[in-house]
Amino acid sequence: MEYKQRTVTCGELQISDVGRKVVLNGWVHRNRNHGGIHFINLRDRYGITQIVISDTASEEVQNTAASLHAEYCIAVEGIVQARPDSMVNQEMATGEIEVEASSLQILSTCEPVPFMVDEESDAKEDTRLRYRFLDLRSFGMQKRIKLRHDFVRAIREFLSQRDFYEIETPTLLKSTPEGARDFLVPSRLYPGKFYALPQSPQLLKQILMVSGFDKYFQIARCYRDEDARGDRQLEFTQLDMEMSFVSRDDVLLIIEQLFHYVFKKVMNYETEEHFTRLSWYDAVNTYGVDKPDLRYDLPLRDFNELALLSTFSTFKDVISNGGCVKVIKAPKTDLVAYSRKYITSLEEAAKVYKAKGLAWMKVNDEGHLDGGVSKFFKDVEDKVLQYTDAQPGEMLLLVADEWKTVCASLGAVRIKLAKDLQLIDPDKFAFCWIIDFPLFEFNEERGHWEAAHHMFSMPQSQYLDTLESDPGSVKGDLYDLVLNGYEVASGSIRIHDIELQKRIFRICNIPDEVSQQRFGFLLNAFKYGPPPHGGIAPGIDRMVMIMAGETSIKEVIAFPKNTAAVSPMDDSPSYVDKEQLDELHLIIKEEPKKDK
Ligand code: ASP
Repeated sequence: MEYKQRTVTCGELQISDVGRKVVLNGWVHRNRNHGGIHFINLRDRYGITQIVISDTASEEVQNTAASLHAEYCIAVEGIVQARPDSMVNQEMATGEIEVEASSLQILSTCEPVPFMVDEESDAKEDTRLRYRFLDLRSFGMQKRIKLRHDFVRAIREFLSQRDFYEIETPTLLKSTPEGARDFLVPSRLYPGKFYALPQSPQLLKQILMVSGFDKYFQIARCYRDEDARGDRQLEFTQLDMEMSFVSRDDVLLIIEQLFHYVFKKVMNYETEEHFTRLSWYDAVNTYGVDKPDLRYDLPLRDFNELALLSTFSTFKDVISNGGCVKVIKAPKTDLVAYSRKYITSLEEAAKVYKAKGLAWMKVNDEGHLDGGVSKFFKDVEDKVLQYTDAQPGEMLLLVADEWKTVCASLGAVRIKLAKDLQLIDPDKFAFCWIIDFPLFEFNEERGHWEAAHHMFSMPQSQYLDTLESDPGSVKGDLYDLVLNGYEVASGSIRIHDIELQKRIFRICNIPDEVSQQRFGFLLNAFKYGPPPHGGIAPGIDRMVMIMAGETSIKEVIAFPKNTAAVSPMDDSPSYVDKEQLDELHLIIKEEPKKDK
């Protein structure tokens, strides 16, 4: 097809270009006809340019203009002219000019669109995903995809400057479940054998350390066959990193420097030079979660001592049974009234995390405790006011239960208060490190200990003698990076000693024969001079989502699956031909239902 190729993009013409003859290629964003004059907003990735077809244009051009519909792809030739003063649009980068068309060519037509290509589109998610090619034309999506590109590029720049090598590892490898279910790929050549898609390149990056590549990174795709829930994707991308001869603090420092560089470069945002560090216990004890949003404070505080001085037997009983009481102070606000109804909504948030109730008392205008459970605190009112520094208009919210439940439920109240009271600065990026995690968690369902992160993390040295006798108290050299209340990375210093690695496997209910069969290749590599090493893996999707101010990772992935793990655009997963199954030596147990 012969057509006029663009000489400029739709985002660049300025008043200084007036008089130039230009060609633009793009999509019809809007097409309006004002009393015989056509105004076309022509869009491409770079912006929008207004095209005018006046009544003096040739009949052919006028007819073509009249036949245009949304999202037709066209070529326009014309002269740049200044807009009349009254039509200047300061909001638009090209708002001072327009192009008077002398020729118009339709490059391709477009069926009636299921939604307008616009950020404000209220199309349902599945419609957006089915027509993802159209959805991706919106400036919002284009901006976010660019942000993602800039983010990854800045990462590559920084790490390359710091002597890291980017090394690819296979996506077909041995199944070594890391905690989630593996995606399996049947082998055609070896009936009954399978490859797995990596849950992360964990073991391979450790083996690269054995090979002497002491600074490694990879923008790695990871696959986990987990049930669709929340904002998860079956595949996601992480910045996978590993380093040899490093301590925990070296890893934390390089990440602080990396994100300082990247945020400055990509968003012109100065992150803190060093990120706050909280132990896992302090994070949970003070903020109720191990991924606290530190854009606001609202700490949870211990209230046992005052509860014991009160006449409230419910609280006292909980404490004598080994539980605790904590308080959170809701600040004075004009945004919500601390009515019964509102307190009930806070209580509901607490109950999701198993709190039996949410006790409360307000400070009235005279500065006295009022309402709720205040009658039980009459004799210790001064002490309560002093301890909490509660002022008129403020409210105290309390939960009594076992420690975990108190923290989790008041943590949820904290998050809800911050949202409702608009305590969150949307322009802030608050990083923090969570360190000193428990190494093991007891899995009640399976009845044995499991690695809280993964089995390759180093226990802190003071616990080496008590690993087997008291796994629950062992802290590991693990760290998570948290940004605005999301866990955005986790990592650890690794075990590089075969015997210690086997002890961890055994505690996690993996006997030597099984660990040899599953992880033999790692253990084998560890026989050949493994260096001490450690690493981390920040999630790219999540970080870009936060940087873009979004709440779903789908907004920063070009072709995501929907919440049911289906891709409405290509209809995957889908059935395959019998011949394909035969080649792979597979028989499907249930009769496949017919595809719709
Ligand atoms: N492989 C780990 C993960 O994907 C990250 C790490 O420990 O480096 O969570």
